[in-house]
Amino acid sequence: VKKNGKNGFQFFTPELNAQLHEKIELEGELRKAIERSELLLHYQPQIRTGDSLMVGVEALVRWNHPAKGLLAPGVFIPIAEETGMIYDIGTWVLREACRQMREWHRGGGPLIPVSVNLSAQQFHQPNLVGYIRNILEDTGLDPQYLELEITESMMMDAAVSAEILNELSQFGIRISLDDFGTGYSSLGYLKLLPIDKLKIDRSFITDITMNESDKAIVSTIIAMAHHLKMDVIAEGIETKDQLDILTANKCEEIQGYYFSRPLSATDVEAAFFAPMRI
Ligand code: C2E
Ligand code: CA
Ligand code: CA
Ligand code: CA
Repeated sequence: VKKNGKNGFQFFTPELNAQLHEKIELEGELRKAIERSELLLHYQPQIRTGDSLMVGVEALVRWNHPAKGLLAPGVFIPIAEETGMIYDIGTWVLREACRQMREWHRGGGPLIPVSVNLSAQQFHQPNLVGYIRNILEDTGLDPQYLELEITESMMMDAAVSAEILNELSQFGIRISLDDFGTGYSSLGYLKLLPIDKLKIDRSFITDITMNESDKAIVSTIIAMAHHLKMDVIAEGIETKDQLDILTANKCEEIQGYYFSRPLSATDVEAAFFAPMRI
C-alpha cells in the first residue's frame, strides 16, 4: 500500500505497479548510462537582441537510451536527484560542457561562455569551488567562460548561499538565476548576493502578447535588473511578436525556439559559427 494524503491509503493498481517497475528499470539503466557513453549535451544559443549574435549557450543534458531513444532531462534528472546519481551525472555534464567550450575556443569558434544547470544537491556539495576549479584546470577553460544556473529555491538560507556564491564569484565564475520569478523567495537577497544575470522564466513569456500582467511583470524585471546592474535574458521566446515586446522593453538577450532549439555541438557549429578553416 502507498500512503495517500487525503484518503489515507491507496492500493497498488496494475498501472501503478507497471509505472513503479518502469522507474526501477530506468534507474538501473541510468546507473550505467555514463560508462556506456549514453549521455550527451545539447546547446541552446543565447542571442543578443541588438545584433542577433550568439553570445552564449546553455548546456542541456540528454540521455540516448538504447531502446527508448533520446530522453529529455525531465524524465531522468528527478530520478538522478532522488538516488544521488546527480553527483556523477552533474560532474559529467560540467566536464563535458567545459571540454566542448575549450575545444570551440581553440578551434577558432566564438569566445562565448557556457551556462550549466546545477541541482540543489550539487550546489550544496562540500567544497564546490575546489571541485569546479579542478574541472576548469583539467579542461583548460578559463573561469570567465563558465556560468552556473541556480534557482531561487537554493537561496533559502541566505547566509549559506552567500558564502558559496561569493567564493564562486571571486574565482571568476558567473552566476545566473534561472526560472526567475517562479520562486517564493523575497527580493532582498538580490542586493546581498553576487548574481550576474536574471533569466526570466518562460511562463511569463508564453502569453505576453495577450496578457498585460505578464507584460508588466516582464518589463519590471528587466528594469530592475538594469538598476541592479545585472544582465537579463528571457527564456522561451517562440515568436516574432514575443521578441518585439522584449526588444521594446530593452531586454538585451533572449533564448528560445524562435532563434534555435537546443542543438548538438555539430549542429551549433554548422548553424552559428562563421565558416572556419577549410
Ligand atoms: P531549464 O534550465 O529551464 O531549461 C530550459 C528548458 O526549456 C529546456 O528544456 C529547453 O529545451 C526548453 N526551451 C528552450 N526554449 C524553449 C522555447 O522556446 N519553448 C519551449 N516550450 N521550451 C523551450 P529541457 O532541455 O527539456 O530541460 C528541462 C530542464 O531540465 C531544464 O530547465 C533544467 O531545469 C533541467 N536540466 C537540463 N539539463 C540539466 C543538467 O545538466 N543538470 C541539471 N541539474 N538539470 C538540467
Ligand atoms: Ca537553465
Ligand atoms: Ca529556466
Ligand atoms: Ca525550468
